[in-house]
Amino acid sequence: RTVYVNGAYVPETEAKVSVFDRAFLFGDGIYEVASVLGGKLIDFPAHIARLHRSANELGMRIDVSDEEILAIHRELVSRNEVEEGVVYMQLTRGAVDRDFMFDTEKLKPTLVLFTQTRPLVDTAVARNGMKIVSIPDLRWGRCDIKTVQLLYPSLGKMEAKSRGADDAWMVRDGVVTEGTSNNAFIVTKTGAIVTRPLSNAILPGITRAALMSYSTASGTPVEEREFTIDEAREAAEAFITSASVFVGPVISIDGVELSGGKPGPVTLGLRKTYLEESLKRAI
Ligand code: PMP
Repeated sequence: RTVYVNGAYVPETEAKVSVFDRAFLFGDGIYEVASVLGGKLIDFPAHIARLHRSANELGMRIDVSDEEILAIHRELVSRNEVEEGVVYMQLTRGAVDRDFMFDTEKLKPTLVLFTQTRPLVDTAVARNGMKIVSIPDLRWGRCDIKTVQLLYPSLGKMEAKSRGADDAWMVRDGVVTEGTSNNAFIVTKTGAIVTRPLSNAILPGITRAALMSYSTASGTPVEEREFTIDEAREAAEAFITSASVFVGPVISIDGVELSGGKPGPVTLGLRKTYLEESLKRAI
C-alpha cells in the first residue's frame, strides 16, 4: 500500500512519524474516515467541514487546502486501486520535545492518510445485524471533537466481544449517548426514527446528519430527543450510523431481541435510501 505522510507518497513500510509526535505522546490529534464506493468518496465535503471544526476547537492548524486534501484522497484511492473501502486521515499538532505545554505556531502539523480496502455494502452486519450491549459512558466531556483518544471506545468494543456481542452503546444517566464508533438510533412502534440531539456528549456524525435529511425528505418522521436504554430495549427496531457501516441494523440490546432478532424493515429501507442518495452525491 502507498500511504501519504506530510507531502510524500511512500510505501507503508517506509512511512515515518516522529516518536515525539504529540498524537503519539498525548493523543493530540484529530481524524476523519471517509468511505469509498465505486472508487468515489461518500459525504466528502461534510468530512472536511468536521475536520476544520475539530481543529478549531483544539486550536490546531491545518496547513493544507481543502482542494489539496481532496486531491490526496483521490491520489491514494487511485494508487491503491480502492473500489470499496475507506480513507483514513489523521492530523496532529506536530512533533516537539515532550512537554504538556505547547506552542501551536511553532509546530508543523503532521498529516497522514492511508486507505483500507474492504467490503462495506455486502457485509455480515448488513445481512444479519449486530448485537449490542450497554456500558457506562466514561469518556471525557468533549466527545463532539473527533480526536484519536480512542482507548475507552476500543476497550468498550472488547468488552462487547467478551459478552458475545458485536458492539456497545454507551449510557450516561440512563440515557444512550452513542455507540463506541457510531451514532445510535431507535425506531418507534409508529415508525418514527429517534436519535439524541447534538451536544458535547456525542460526535456529530456525518452519516447521522445525511440520513436524517434523507429520512425527512422521504417522509419518515425524525424525532431528535434523548432516549433511555430501557426505551431502546423495547423499541420496534434499532440501528447505528457511521461512515464505514452506513446504516447498521441492531438485532438485540443486552440480550433482548428487537424486530424478531432480524434486521428490521424500516432500518433496511433507510440503509437502501442512504446508499442510493449518498452514491448520487459521491465525488
Ligand atoms: N460516534 C463516534 C464516537 C464515532 O467514533 C463515529 C465514527 N467516527 C461516529 C459517531 C459516526 O460518525 P460518522 O457518521 O461521521 O462516521
